Amino acid sequence: MGGAALDVRQLSVGYGPVRALREVTLEVPEGAVVTVLGSNGAGKSTLLRAISRTLSFHGGAVTAGSVAFAGRPLEGRTPDRVVAAGVSQVPEGRQVFARMTVEDNLRAGALGARGDRGARSAALRRVHELFPVLAERAQQRAGLLSGGEQQMLAVGRALMAAPRLLLLDEPSLGLAPMMAARIADTVREINAQGTSVLLVEQNAALALRLASRAYVLEVGEVTLSGPADELAASDEVRRRYLGVV
Ligand code: ATP
Repeated sequence: MGGAALDVRQLSVGYGPVRALREVTLEVPEGAVVTVLGSNGAGKSTLLRAISRTLSFHGGAVTAGSVAFAGRPLEGRTPDRVVAAGVSQVPEGRQVFARMTVEDNLRAGALGARGDRGARSAALRRVHELFPVLAERAQQRAGLLSGGEQQMLAVGRALMAAPRLLLLDEPSLGLAPMMAARIADTVREINAQGTSVLLVEQNAALALRLASRAYVLEVGEVTLSGPADELAASDEVRRRYLGVV
């Protein structure tokens, strides 16, 4: 643990005239799991896209503010340079390459990453240890995997770049509770192995169990933030995000 691995300051983002984020400030300390909660359209995916520098693929742009990782600004970098800086994203909806094999999907995750063949083999071993099913299904087309297995593949693909920070966009979306719990266990394990995590989730109960710190995003603005256990106990979060009346 140390300073901020990720430092987002006063970040504003627009899609043309649509203002999606307004002056969002957020930190992920080195070694931490931090979550961003928010309902549909709150701006969670937009935040991750701004960090991974993939906003322009969606017609968006940063209009103000800054994003730094390990003390270095990420502005002006291409997405592959963000990966090389140690930040990998698991996109919303998994987005695995359905026609490619599981193994080729994983190899694609190492493109743009630093490190030699030895580093890539070590990353692949780590992914196979975390998700043995990805080793068993290595030669199968990714499109044939179940939803939960595709989520594992999406996480595994991001881990192939041996990131220091993993950006996770709604990993539990559309999964049965048992599979969501399984993914949550893996996130815990990945973090225990030294990777910081920024987790964006609509499933607040799951996210607050995983994270040490949480932020609530509403219509593009941070409305609440604090230690995850304090937010989990707050009336506002319990009513709006945990379904407790
Ligand atoms: P969801 O869980 O539904 O993905 P979210 O919290 O991730 O929600 P975003 O997808 O970041 O929210 O959307 C934030 C705002 O930006 C919304 O008002 C949305 O309509 C708008 N938005 C998102 N993507 C685009 C886009 N490509 N073009 C225009 N507006 C967009």
